[in-house]
Amino acid sequence: MTVQTKCFIGLSDIVALRIDCKKCKALFVFPFEGFRDIPQSCPNCEQEFAGFNDNVTRHTFREFMKAIRAVGSLTEKSAFSFSMEITPALGDRK
Ligand SMILES: [Zn+2]
Repeated sequence: MTVQTKCFIGLSDIVALRIDCKKCKALFVFPFEGFRDIPQSCPNCEQEFAGFNDNVTRHTFREFMKAIRAVGSLTEKSAFSFSMEITPALGDRK
């Protein structure tokens, strides 16, 4: 017999957003509720994440957040629920 475990998350499961700096490996966790924008730079090493002139990154990120909120609101009122399958956490993989 083969047992297979599947993990699903719903949009209501999202409680925080994590941003990892690829340069210094610092990580920052922001509450999902009320999240407005990604930091312009890493508070630890000052590596730029999205500069004032980087409208593509900021716009794309804002649209992503808007879409998550819109789908969450839409599915609250609909006759179906929505979730996404994720890879189960099996330790610290990279
Ligand atoms: Zn950093």
